[in-house]
Amino acid sequence: MCGVIGLFDNENVVSKLYSSMLTIQHRGQDSAGILTFDGTFHLKKGNGLIRDIFDQKNIARLQGNIGIGHTRYPTVGEGSVEDAQPFWLNFPFGIAGAHNGNITNFFQLKKELNDKSKKIINSNCDMEVVLNVFAEYIEKFKNKKITPEIIFNAVKYVYKRVKGSYAVVLYIAGIGMLGFRDPYGLRPLLFGETKPELTNEKSIYGFASESTSLSVLNFDIIRDVEPGSAIFINEDKEIFEKKLSSKPHRPCIFEYIYFARPDSDLNGINVYSSRVELGNSLAKKIKKLKLDIDIVSPVPDSARTASIAIARKLKLKYREGLVKNRYIGRTFIMPEDNARKESINQKLNPIEAVFIDKNVLLVDDSIVRGNTSRAIVQMVRNAGAKKIFFASYSSPLTNPCFYGIDMQTKGEFIALNSTEEEIAKKIGADLVIYQDIKDMERSVRAQNKQIKSFCKACFTGDYPTGDITEDMLVQIENDRANNVKSKLNNKNK
Ligand code: 5GP
Ligand code: SF4
Ligand code: MG
Repeated sequence: MCGVIGLFDNENVVSKLYSSMLTIQHRGQDSAGILTFDGTFHLKKGNGLIRDIFDQKNIARLQGNIGIGHTRYPTVGEGSVEDAQPFWLNFPFGIAGAHNGNITNFFQLKKELNDKSKKIINSNCDMEVVLNVFAEYIEKFKNKKITPEIIFNAVKYVYKRVKGSYAVVLYIAGIGMLGFRDPYGLRPLLFGETKPELTNEKSIYGFASESTSLSVLNFDIIRDVEPGSAIFINEDKEIFEKKLSSKPHRPCIFEYIYFARPDSDLNGINVYSSRVELGNSLAKKIKKLKLDIDIVSPVPDSARTASIAIARKLKLKYREGLVKNRYIGRTFIMPEDNARKESINQKLNPIEAVFIDKNVLLVDDSIVRGNTSRAIVQMVRNAGAKKIFFASYSSPLTNPCFYGIDMQTKGEFIALNSTEEEIAKKIGADLVIYQDIKDMERSVRAQNKQIKSFCKACFTGDYPTGDITEDMLVQIENDRANNVKSKLNNKNK
């Protein structure tokens, strides 16, 4: 998963862009980059957190009113700095951009661009391929005036060739800024506007993966870029918008469960409220089980909202018994199992006074491999708990995500080919309770019934883009397995 922001300001944009980017740090902690334009492109990217990559020196160098920022966690490639975004091309006009998502036919496109168009794709970053496909279309018009119509047709050309999920922000030098979402709108992208203090100045426009990134800049109007649609802002700051695909909207349900910030609104759904609803709905299921529960306790931070809702519905005590060390990164980013296990213990610590002699309902957003859950159950037992019921407010995860969330390979899912009793045994809990898939979808959909269905392929194996073949499953599985191996080899060097 990644985060992307594009701002079209009237003055130097870098300080606004930097503060806005801090709101998407949770979407990728592997690398980050900022690109600005003031007649030429200026670019700084690096590995690590935003605060460690940018300093006064490189911020001063990032001049211009136009800026694109990106935070990355890699789904393709080894995470080297060459693969970090934004990317830029110097033909046909100079095009720069960044995206959030994952291109499923990346390797095929890379080969096609090389064989047929003699383009060398240097990186393993899928944005380089998107940029090249887009550029290939508008190159034909390089001696003409580039109209919004040509730009929109270029996006259609991207839709035709590029498969997977992508929410893209581009800047075409001297022509304008463009934001578009893939035909199914799998990944979020918001568009916003704010009027500057001086009335004779034009509005400032922005695109962002989460609404929070624009609301922290006090944008007045924030709305979603429609799925399969593009919004183009020309150099005079005129806005053009076009729907370019009529595929059904299938936003990623996992954004609400885990990924996005609770203060964001995506696709007309507030993330916090959807987690309250997920909690309410799971509470109904738990109530029917008539369990002897003394306290409800969340696995911080994502499960806090749903846990409070569960405790309230069940009229039980809510107790925060696990303390999180905020200064350790997300554990699933670590490729090596041992490193992951160790860092879970450093990340969470139990409060004995909360758990001793209690029957505990522990609530988490999801169970992926089960390493976190196993370590937590152990921890809570050691702190003196009598019984531990482990509830996941999402359904069992059993399939890899090809659209940008790194679920790793299929074999690693603890819920695959296992009953709930077996899962409970594997993680050491007395009982495991999952949200039913219908309730999960209904809870998130409650705020926007216009969305007929979400992407929930990681729970069902039903991939909405319809292009994930058995061969691709095997291929991507192998690529991922090799990726993990090569990360480990690099680490051991
Ligand atoms: P696991 O069951 O793999 O040990 O870890 C599950 C925990 O990882 C949950 O607490 C959940 O918050 C977190 N998690 C959420 N999203 C992801 C993801 O995309 N990938 C992985 N591996 N873990 C995630
Ligand atoms: Fe989101 Fe899962 Fe679909 Fe991936 S497979 S886009 S994580 S719902
Ligand atoms: Mg968690």
